[in-house]
Amino acid sequence: MQAGENTGPLRIVIVGGGTAGWMCAAGLARLLVPDDYDLTLIESEEIGTVGVGEATLPHIRRFNAMLGLDEAAFLRATQGSIKLGVEFVDWLRPGERYIHPFGTFGEPWAGVEFQHHWTRARQAGEPVGSFQDYSYAIAACRRNAFEPPQDDPASIRGTYDYAYHFDAGLYADYLRRWATARGVERIEGKVVDIRRDPANGHVHRLTLASGAEVEGDLFVDCSGFRSLLVGATMGSGWHDWSEWLPCDRALAVPCARVDPLTPYTRLTAQRGGWVWRIPLQHRTGNGHVFSSRHCSEDEACDILLSRLDGEALGEPRLLRFQAGRRDRAWVGNCVAIGLSSGFLEPLESTSIYLIQAAIIDLANLIPARGGGIDPRLAAEFNRLFAALYERTRDFLILHYAANDRVGEPLWDEARAMTLPDDLRQRIDLFRASGTMPEYRLGLFSRDSWLAVLIGQGVAPGTYNRLADHVPIAELRRRLVDLHARIAAGVADMPDQAAFLARPGADDAGAGAAMRRVATA
Ligand SMILES: Cc1cc2nc3c(=O)[nH]c(=O)nc-3n(C[C@H](O)[C@H](O)[C@H](O)COP(=O)(O)OP(=O)(O)OC[C@H]3O[C@@H](n4cnc5c(N)ncnc54)[C@H](O)[C@@H]3O)c2cc1C
Repeated sequence: MQAGENTGPLRIVIVGGGTAGWMCAAGLARLLVPDDYDLTLIESEEIGTVGVGEATLPHIRRFNAMLGLDEAAFLRATQGSIKLGVEFVDWLRPGERYIHPFGTFGEPWAGVEFQHHWTRARQAGEPVGSFQDYSYAIAACRRNAFEPPQDDPASIRGTYDYAYHFDAGLYADYLRRWATARGVERIEGKVVDIRRDPANGHVHRLTLASGAEVEGDLFVDCSGFRSLLVGATMGSGWHDWSEWLPCDRALAVPCARVDPLTPYTRLTAQRGGWVWRIPLQHRTGNGHVFSSRHCSEDEACDILLSRLDGEALGEPRLLRFQAGRRDRAWVGNCVAIGLSSGFLEPLESTSIYLIQAAIIDLANLIPARGGGIDPRLAAEFNRLFAALYERTRDFLILHYAANDRVGEPLWDEARAMTLPDDLRQRIDLFRASGTMPEYRLGLFSRDSWLAVLIGQGVAPGTYNRLADHVPIAELRRRLVDLHARIAAGVADMPDQAAFLARPGADDAGAGAAMRRVATA
């Protein structure tokens, strides 16, 4: 039987069992109508997974909630911890640091965004302090404190959000148990041959090293950097973005955990790249992302090891990559999700989010059983994919472009590069007016842009004149009051360890919790 002729359930075959593959299997098993779809996942232990990816964005909580995962059981099973934001150390210039928090800055008064009031007060010579002082999430980071935000956005305790650090391998294991308990068939084996229908070019059969054959109607390519189906077989082109994001290597090594457990990722700029530090419950993840044009592997390794704050748990592992994306992520009846669709360095922990977004888009555009693959579905998927990737890319470029690390070739080149038009316009608009429009199809909110723009030294030249509706004495009083409410709120916030230690729905182990969730 060939693609499009199957009148039974649509046979969806996922190739790859890394984070992308198992998120996809679990997400589709949860979202699709069961009788209309058969889900199979092929993974190869011999090939293994990329084995990194520990920091996430708050959206992951929506994904887990969609699956019905119990948060405490999930955190225990994945050795997870809380992430309230990312601290950027030395990015503007050595000695400077700022946090990109998950949440908002200040409050909008008289219908005017907070950054305008802050700019106005500064320009009036008021002792307003740093923009960073008006974020509840940043204040919590500074105290290593955490409690879940309140539901009320009018409360200062409802102005932040959180994500997780976790062991991505354990997360994939967790989702594997969840998905297979919900009917996803798992096949262990290495795909060695891919057959296409000569009539329409669609993939219809995979052959495994064992000789077994797997047929399907729709194939999801989660094969990682290999991009077996969409890249290697269907020939989707590659948009190379290394002119803006020149880092092309990473060395990764875990080290022993040190206390206290900090509720944020730390990224420290280096001469030829940057070093990450991600605290988990059982260890701390570390890595050095660098440009091979600006830093040798030996030098990168020395820098990484010199910065560990605990005993190294193994040898540093080298990964190679290039920033960019596939021209089309959905070609014919093959859809690339995860590293097979593109790569952006983990500067803002965006990869797992991009996987999540692609799964939701695919579920919304999934072909009906028996109806073949409508190319208009693929076109819409590719439009969303391109917009999300490009806007995420622009946000990452901003971290490099606006720097003051003069005299270091990587950073000098970054300041001089020609920016994508949309990013150039956003920076110019902010410099001129303090205005930062929200994207309709973008990942990072206005407040995220403000955190990085101001953190990287891009100052608004002026402010929205509607802010003048608030008399300056009243503005001074509100700023002082806001500052005091933030300080009082975080003062009695517990350490995140108390949150992590709370009992979950399943204290006997995640496996049983998973089975319960799966059959619920
Ligand atoms: C240095 C670095 C740091 C990162 N940090 C973060 C981070 O902090 N946060 C974040 O969100 N993301 C991060 N990422 C990205 C993240 O690791 C990936 O997006 C995520 O792990 C998904 O990978 P994947 O499943 O697409 O690919 P992989 O993990 O490579 O999985 C590919 C799967 O395909 C299978 N496969 C391949 N070929 C075959 C074959 N022929 N037959 C059968 N099976 C096959 C493999 O066995 C494997 O199961 C980072 C990436 C790198 C390189």
